[in-house]
Amino acid sequence: MKYYSTNKKAPLATLHEAVVKGLAPDRGLYMPEVIKPLPQSFFDHIEDMSFQEIAFEVAKSFFGEDVEENALKKIVYDTLSFDVPAVKVEDDIYALELFHGPTLAFKDVGARFMARLLQYFVRQEGKEEVNVLVATSGDTGSAVANGFLGVDGIHVYVLYPKGKVSKIQESQFTTLGQNITALEVDGVFDDCQALVKNAFMDKELNDHMKLTSANSINVARFLPQAFYYFYAYAQMKKKGLADNLVVCVPSGNFGNICAGLFGWKAGLPIKRFIAANNANDIFYNYLKTGEYHPQPSKQTLANAMDVGDPSNFARIYDLFGGSHKAITDLISGATYSDDDIRKTLRDCYERTGYVLDPHGACGYQALKDGLKKGETGVFLETAHPAKFKEKVDAILGTDIAIPERLAAFMRGKKQMIEMPNDFQTFKQFLLKQ
Ligand SMILES: *Cc1c(COP(=O)(O)O)cnc(C)c1O
Repeated sequence: MKYYSTNKKAPLATLHEAVVKGLAPDRGLYMPEVIKPLPQSFFDHIEDMSFQEIAFEVAKSFFGEDVEENALKKIVYDTLSFDVPAVKVEDDIYALELFHGPTLAFKDVGARFMARLLQYFVRQEGKEEVNVLVATSGDTGSAVANGFLGVDGIHVYVLYPKGKVSKIQESQFTTLGQNITALEVDGVFDDCQALVKNAFMDKELNDHMKLTSANSINVARFLPQAFYYFYAYAQMKKKGLADNLVVCVPSGNFGNICAGLFGWKAGLPIKRFIAANNANDIFYNYLKTGEYHPQPSKQTLANAMDVGDPSNFARIYDLFGGSHKAITDLISGATYSDDDIRKTLRDCYERTGYVLDPHGACGYQALKDGLKKGETGVFLETAHPAKFKEKVDAILGTDIAIPERLAAFMRGKKQMIEMPNDFQTFKQFLLKQ
């Protein structure tokens, strides 16, 4: 399978090239040339298959031409070593709990898959060391760092905005050591993302070292996220609730929902999608007006969604041939302020006992506001509420338990390097490595 760039100016790439490059040379995002429909027989019996079995079928369809079958199976099965249950919150509304992985957020799936696929390609090549640069607004850094921890031949640099990620999030990528280096950038998430993007465009740097990205722009990270949309469908089908399925995705950089849309293109019978935003409402406004205007990101309670210029918008736009109508026919939007998020957390907890995290709260509320009669809604609960314990406890007056795998990070010793928001300094630092 060949991959083209959304900017259409770069040559076609193999999967191997697309994964190692991350971003295409024309600054576009790689897209698979073909999305093969999955056969009806697959959907007929999907409810009897395990998560890993379903994911392997989907992976073969996406990556089967480029990765040897047994290796792909091992990558998929190793990646999905935890469950993603669809849990009933109330009538017609289910939470797809994506937080049962090592760092308690959905990004574990893409990060673990990418680490294993990249290692597969690096081994094929023989020798060279690959350096992964990743900008994070919180959860990407921890998922990527943990996904790659101890993987031979790969060094990871995590760039995060100083003072803008929670203590728990920070501990998940600053305490690891080994092949993981944390860089604390004096700026916001978009500055971190800009440093990473500039590094990929810098010829001298790229001649000196092999760089790749593990942000959600990388095909090996965003596309495997499609697996759990199929599994969500399977679980709902088993309950007899899959006929009018609405999937709601709390969105920031739009990699997660984009993977769901690729699943839909491959034949997954989801009726429609809702993209739930916090106060960063760029996509919401695009749906309303047909115009896309990036904005500086605003800090909110749902900080992993504080993105003012969502990278994967380019993919969604391309997937639907730039048609605003095609996009709005399938996807609707919602936007919530911090006050809304607080109210939702409280309402949901009081009525149902379910503890949402601030990101999932946007997804849940968008279903409450947007679900029509006869539809069943699944929202992606993208992180465990304990990752945002201080905020959630303050809002709900609770003392929610911290899962042991999270507590273990917090006991570790933090190590990071301070980095000004300046590309030349960042570049000199990398050149010295
Ligand atoms: C990253 C993240 C999001 C946003 O996902 P995108 O793929 O960037 O749209 C939502 N919730 C949580 C908890 C996240 O970590």
